[in-house]
Amino acid sequence: MTPNSLSRLLFALVLGSLLGAVAGALLGQPLAGLAAGALAGTLVSMTVDTRRGLRLLDWLRGPQHVTAPRDQGYWGELAYRIERALRQKDQAVAQERERLAQFLAAIEASPNGVMLLDANDQIEWCNTVAAQHFGLDPQRDRLQRVTNLVRSPLFVAYLQSGEFDEPVTIPGPLGRSTISLMVRPYGDGMKLLLSQDITERERAEAMRRDFVANVSHEIRTPLTVLAGFVETLAQLPLTEPERQRVLALMSQQTDRMQALVGDLLTLAQLEGSPHPGADRWLGLTPLLQRSLADAVALSAGRHAITPRGGAELEVAATESELLSAVGNLLGNAVRYTPEGGRIELAWGRLDDGRAFVEVADSGPGIAREHLPRLTERFYRVDGSRSRDTGGTGLGLSIVKHVVQRHGGEIEIHSEPGKGSTFRLLLPALRVRGAERPLSARAEAAA
Ligand code: ADP
Repeated sequence: MTPNSLSRLLFALVLGSLLGAVAGALLGQPLAGLAAGALAGTLVSMTVDTRRGLRLLDWLRGPQHVTAPRDQGYWGELAYRIERALRQKDQAVAQERERLAQFLAAIEASPNGVMLLDANDQIEWCNTVAAQHFGLDPQRDRLQRVTNLVRSPLFVAYLQSGEFDEPVTIPGPLGRSTISLMVRPYGDGMKLLLSQDITERERAEAMRRDFVANVSHEIRTPLTVLAGFVETLAQLPLTEPERQRVLALMSQQTDRMQALVGDLLTLAQLEGSPHPGADRWLGLTPLLQRSLADAVALSAGRHAITPRGGAELEVAATESELLSAVGNLLGNAVRYTPEGGRIELAWGRLDDGRAFVEVADSGPGIAREHLPRLTERFYRVDGSRSRDTGGTGLGLSIVKHVVQRHGGEIEIHSEPGKGSTFRLLLPALRVRGAERPLSARAEAAA
């Protein structure tokens, strides 16, 4: 009992006794009056205490939205202290909630999938990335057993094995992706499941494997032929004309290997060097005339090769790369167009400011189904024709690489029997000169 409430009780006792004694004396019963007065004083004091106590209890039973009753004495202090303790606890809970929310937001921001499983493999929580990896709904699927939702046998076996030293790879929800996942046990039988989409990595790895296999194959073939000829030369007594023929065939094979290694080096250089800056300008016409001269030499009079258009343009490009791209297109036109065919090289500026360089031929054309794959490495429509004419299967992939590095694109139009047109487009910001587009000049001329 606090001094405050004790003094109130004593005060009520003394006052009650005094008033009782006076009243008792007036009635001739001073002692009885004293006792009744003391009892009444005590009862009044206790009633006040009980009322205050009940008010505090009422407040405690409620949601404590309003402040605690502000009574005097120890009830008031008790209410204040309880209220303060409750507010402090609320604050601590709010802070912890905030921390948890921040923590979960950080995991949510992770590029990898994170899932927490309880001891029964039920989903406690998972971030959006994990939900995507496993085709789940983070809210709806909470507390569901993960093996009921992710049914890949590999996944189920991995989770049940308890052996989590190595990650495991499973197909994604629609079978179009590949997910690598690993489990880290923690706490009392709980599991942290981390996942990563490795579809792109796998695709790049598959492409690299294909590429190495293709290169090996392309190199091994001429090497085998060469080895055969070397053996022939070493073991068989050949006549001079036979020897000359064998040497010519050997030279063809070494040319083929040289072309292949040259194209591979070009590709490696394109991949390994920074994108060409947009500030080194070069005249397009002289460059194209050099390519044209090379094509004329390659054709050796078998085709009619004509330039068309010829606006005086400057382009911001790497000279060697552009030469290689146009050279490849003209080279293909010469190689695939039968003798007597026509080949045209046109260039100019489109209405939207882009520059184009176009190589059109009257050759055999290409069936529609091949067009989307034409720029893939080692993709050939007719393998033997490509090889017979010295093709490496890398020409158009080099062309595509070059234009893409310059922010441009390649368009291919072709139909069997109607020839082919390959058009390179360079973005307007890499072109200057011939401000009047080609179409406007054509109208003016007409
Ligand atoms: P290649 O060294 O085999 O010519 P490319 O990448 O330059 O390799 O071309 C890919 C394929 O596209 C060629 O094998 C050929 O089948 C086809 N092709 C390319 N240019 C032409 C063309 N002008 N006319 C017909 N087919 C062509």
